[in-house]
Amino acid sequence: MKLAARVSQVTPSLTLAIAAKAKAMKAEGIDVCSFSAGEPDFPTPAHICEAAKQALDAGKTRYGAAAGEPELRNAIALKLQIDNNINYQPANIIVTNGGKHSLFNTILALIEHGDEVIIPAPYWLSYPEMVKLAGGTPVIVETLAENAYKITPEQLKAAITPKTKIFILNSPSNPTGTVYTPEEIRTIAEIIVDRDLLVISDEIYEKILYDGVEHLSIGSIAPEVFERTITSNGFAKSYSMTGWRLGYAAAPVELIDATIKIQGHSTSNVCTFAQYGAIAALNHSQACVQEMLEAFTVRRKVMYEAISSISKLSCPKPYGAFYLFIDIRKTGMTSLEFCNALLEEQQVAAIPGIAFGADNCIRLSYATDLKTIQEGLKRLEKFVS
Ligand SMILES: *Cc1c(COP(=O)(O)O)cnc(C)c1O
Repeated sequence: MKLAARVSQVTPSLTLAIAAKAKAMKAEGIDVCSFSAGEPDFPTPAHICEAAKQALDAGKTRYGAAAGEPELRNAIALKLQIDNNINYQPANIIVTNGGKHSLFNTILALIEHGDEVIIPAPYWLSYPEMVKLAGGTPVIVETLAENAYKITPEQLKAAITPKTKIFILNSPSNPTGTVYTPEEIRTIAEIIVDRDLLVISDEIYEKILYDGVEHLSIGSIAPEVFERTITSNGFAKSYSMTGWRLGYAAAPVELIDATIKIQGHSTSNVCTFAQYGAIAALNHSQACVQEMLEAFTVRRKVMYEAISSISKLSCPKPYGAFYLFIDIRKTGMTSLEFCNALLEEQQVAAIPGIAFGADNCIRLSYATDLKTIQEGLKRLEKFVS
């Protein structure tokens, strides 16, 4: 069979092999400590599940508007006005099948052959592949651990060419946990406006912040930044709703209408009754978000202190999300060698950094219980020494 060229350009998930191996070992009854999860380990809060159940009983089981249920678009617009200080109206919102789909639709609506998209590495692994699927060219800019894996204004400016169309900003970041300061975000915004680019701001981890650091939404800075910003977000990480497939993009109406068109011919609306869970998530108390954050805060401290005490490993302190991005250079191994050996010798699963464009690192997720964390860290230390 002759497959389309666009498929052959896409890299299959490098992390799958290790994840599959870890799963197979677990199935054999082997006690695996897994730090590989890219999702919160908590159940979805009960009031959110209850709202979806009620919607099912109330017959919310039919096709809905491709853009999303009007009540949910309203609630998201209000959330963005209040939490993020961006003046989005319901017409600026599209509800999508997860944050991933929001990004994919946006890139598909904007990128064509020859367009360049600047992506700081380490990056979330889907960004470059989405750009390639749309026919564009990802321009990867390597950031440094010494700079907490943040792109500098000089690096950003140097990567811009006449073909650059979009810069992708992900703060807090997966995989590094880095958070750009409001000052840094303002400087990036100046460059975006000055060079007339667009910025996709993936804010999926905006609620998972530590030590009082602040999240600034780039779209809130000024009208000329608003016009150039696509704010992408979702319910997966803040509300532990990964399997629900609920995300959204907010942007100028012209772009949102284009993504509604794409969605209308691909997925149509997001699961109708699931959207009622999202409405409940936004409209009810946010105490559940706080509770999960408190658990993450304890785990982060345990993880960061343990890793910092291992002389061959180092990582910048993460200020957001639930990952540690650890430099393994001193072990002399590549990230795949390290993760394979770690799994085989100590039954600890970690994600090789090469999946995120950084082969001298591994990613450990602390979206798992403290007992697993403590045991896994012990084994990791044994492995490294
Ligand atoms: C998890 C994640 C998303 C979106 O996930 P969905 O499950 O599709 O909502 C987007 N960006 C980053 C960086 C993520 O880690």
